[in-house]
Amino acid sequence: MMKRLLFCVLFVLPFAIPAFPQQVALTFDDLPEHGDLPPHVTRVGVARSILGTLKAEHMPPVYGFVNAVALEDTPSEIKVLRAWRAAGQPLGSHTYTHADLTAWTVPKYESDIARDEPFLEKLMAGQDWRWFRYPYLREGDTLEKRETIRGLSERPGLPHSAGVAELR
Ligand SMILES: [Zn+2]
Repeated sequence: MMKRLLFCVLFVLPFAIPAFPQQVALTFDDLPEHGDLPPHVTRVGVARSILGTLKAEHMPPVYGFVNAVALEDTPSEIKVLRAWRAAGQPLGSHTYTHADLTAWTVPKYESDIARDEPFLEKLMAGQDWRWFRYPYLREGDTLEKRETIRGLSERPGLPHSAGVAELR
């Protein structure tokens, strides 16, 4: 059975590869923290390891999407965001609290996006921070929510980001 499946995959694969080059954006979500740390590992150590790999591999700019709420409980995690910037990598918004548009109202969600912005504006120091990734890649459970939040990209001064929307 496995040989048959493998044959099918190998047979189909050449036909599934597009005849034109595609672009892929590599980004990191949930900065400055996500999940528990193993013993003897720091958040800034994880960030520096990632940043070192990105540099070694000559990657183009890689956005880190921020939930600044983490800084309320652990202000020292600003070091992660500063390390990201010091490495020349940009930051964007992932909402302040990692909000879920499917469960939240539009006004509440917009407010959560807005709370993230002062941190991004300061850390990006005049560079383009107006990129946004929807937490959970959820664009809402109604067309109205989807269109309203996507519409933020039309307004001056607000963030951008497929799964990433541009907030203008
Ligand atoms: Zn996330």
